[in-house]
Amino acid sequence: SLEGRVAIVTGSTSGIGLGIAEALAIRGASVVLNGFGPTDEIAATCRRLAEIHDVPVRHDRADMAQPAEITALMERTARAFGPCDILVNNAGIQHVAQIEDFPPDKWEAILAINLSAAFHTMRAALPRMKARRFGRIVNVASAHGLVASPFKSAYVAAKHGLVGLTKVAALEAAENGVTCNAVCPGYVWTPLVADQVAQQATAHGLSEEEVVRRVFLAEQPTRRFATVDEVAGTVAFLCSRAAASITGIALPVDGGWTTH
Ligand code: NAD
Repeated sequence: SLEGRVAIVTGSTSGIGLGIAEALAIRGASVVLNGFGPTDEIAATCRRLAEIHDVPVRHDRADMAQPAEITALMERTARAFGPCDILVNNAGIQHVAQIEDFPPDKWEAILAINLSAAFHTMRAALPRMKARRFGRIVNVASAHGLVASPFKSAYVAAKHGLVGLTKVAALEAAENGVTCNAVCPGYVWTPLVADQVAQQATAHGLSEEEVVRRVFLAEQPTRRFATVDEVAGTVAFLCSRAAASITGIALPVDGGWTTH
């Protein structure tokens, strides 16, 4: 049980992050949602999670590309719920293009949101986690934190970087009851992947079904998308007491993709 724990999940108004927030709420944690979207929809999500799971839930709109907003998120959370016990760095964006066509502003945004944001949240959270001798940090990397694909230079660089950052944080905090791990999902059907499928179908003149089969699931030996629940359950396990000796790993949840 995570009862009484305070959890922040970045990028949790959609997709994997929302699933993780729910998995932590089910286990009794107070949850801070973060991310963009229509205000009324986000408010409804907060109410739903709070009522079903009987835990405090709030939403914070901090932009993970802005270090000052990240610091403010950590402070607002501490004031509202108490210091952060569980930090899940999940916010992420993607852009697909070969290097010579890759817009430099997209490179900067992907590095900021998918990598640097985790440095800024951890920088704020670690002192109090160490002092209280409990902390769980889970960084949502990707199979692309372990292997590469063409056209995803910024994403692959950021996710490899995030796996490296995870290992360093694990070493620095190991004696203080704080673990830091990465989960590395393969393809999960979320808006992030649906957008890529639609783009590639247009670019290659294929149907979306063909793109899914030939491009996406060709990577994944299970020949199906991993589910949000599978990723969220893995994250929740890493946040549990039972996982206290697991630190510094990059755990694939990828249907066997990174075995070859
Ligand atoms: P998604 O697009 O459904 O959700 C992304 C979330 O991040 C949203 O809540 C969005 O509002 C938020 N976000 C985006 N930019 C932000 C910013 N600047 N500040 C704060 N929040 C921001 O995507 P998803 O597929 O659920 O991806 C979640 C994470 O999982 C990402 O880090 C992604 O790289 C990773 N991942 C996804 C897959 C997949 O197949 N879907 C595979 C491996 C890894």
